Amino acid sequence: MTTQDLAQRIFNFSAGPAALPVSVLEQVRDEMLCLPGAGSSLLEMSHRDKQFVDILHAAEADLRQLLSISDDYAVLFLQGGSRFQFSMIPANLLRGTQKTAHYLVTGSWSKSAIAEAVKEGAIEKVWDGAEKNYSTLPSAGELRIPDDSAYLYYCSNETIQGVQFQSEPACPAGVPLVCDASSDFLSRPLEVDRYGILYACAQKNAGPAGVTVVIIRRDLLPLGSADLPGYMLYRNHAENDSEWNTPPTFAIYVLGLVAKWLQREVGGLDAMAQQNREKADLLYSVIDEYSDFYQGHAARDVRSRMNVTFRLPDDESQGRFLAGAAEQQLGNLKGHRSVGGIRASIYNAMPREGVQTLADFMRSFASQG
Ligand SMILES: *Cc1c(COP(=O)(O)O)cnc(C)c1O
Repeated sequence: MTTQDLAQRIFNFSAGPAALPVSVLEQVRDEMLCLPGAGSSLLEMSHRDKQFVDILHAAEADLRQLLSISDDYAVLFLQGGSRFQFSMIPANLLRGTQKTAHYLVTGSWSKSAIAEAVKEGAIEKVWDGAEKNYSTLPSAGELRIPDDSAYLYYCSNETIQGVQFQSEPACPAGVPLVCDASSDFLSRPLEVDRYGILYACAQKNAGPAGVTVVIIRRDLLPLGSADLPGYMLYRNHAENDSEWNTPPTFAIYVLGLVAKWLQREVGGLDAMAQQNREKADLLYSVIDEYSDFYQGHAARDVRSRMNVTFRLPDDESQGRFLAGAAEQQLGNLKGHRSVGGIRASIYNAMPREGVQTLADFMRSFASQG
């Protein structure tokens, strides 16, 4: 990137689509006109072209390596975003069965998921955080999930409220655990073997908008009934290597570059998790230090390391906060319209320097009132 381009880049705290690693953007720029050896841009290339198929396979292999995904799971690259998974999951795992699916409602995204799932079959809410305005999560021993449940659904990180599970909710052995990991996918290591389905749209932490990664245990593939629209059947995608129809080639290519960045520059998901923990601590320690000025939304033990949500004393100070932050090149900090306040999304690609700049700004803003 030219120095001028780089200088114009703000510290981007957008919740999604969100910041990408600069080295990834530079490589995309360098390869835009002609992918080395291809004779054309990737944007102009058939999804059946061997060079693209190799890119697709490498992206899958790198995800498998990063998350230690075994061959018991298929890794799919789908379109429709995470919201389409809200329907696709119950369509495959619930529709036409006599079973009930169980949902944890911990914030806006799991609430939206349930609104789609009720169209497909019987749903039971086993936990709902509405009473505390979605600032808490269920405790480990609190949940009772029947052994014959179709699946247990939860969202590992509620992007809007900023609450995050630090471990999986307890789920009976025979019940598939289904997780919307859209906003913390690749932020930390995971035990994929615990899940039936784990999915994430890319545009928060893993790449650009346009592709959703679905990691699905292969024994669940036969479940969808053949009268579903073909696109909605997981097995169509699994049997055709995510090329049942044209996949989002560019988004998959960039996601693959992000996976390589995690492997080569960051050093894997343990190292990434460590950096993310440190970045989050920088902000939460200011919130705690100035607790009469900043009010964190999430209860302490469920604070998200990806989306840090807090409020200022009033609208006036919040307006000045956002304006002052913008002067420091700190952008996109306004909270979601449904929660208000401030939200700092500090995904993998947000450098520590950006978080430190925000923490310093928060300190000086709070001391000046
Ligand atoms: C952004 C987000 C979604 C919605 O993703 P789309 O790709 O816009 O459908 C769903 N769940 C979570 C946790 C998200 O952060």
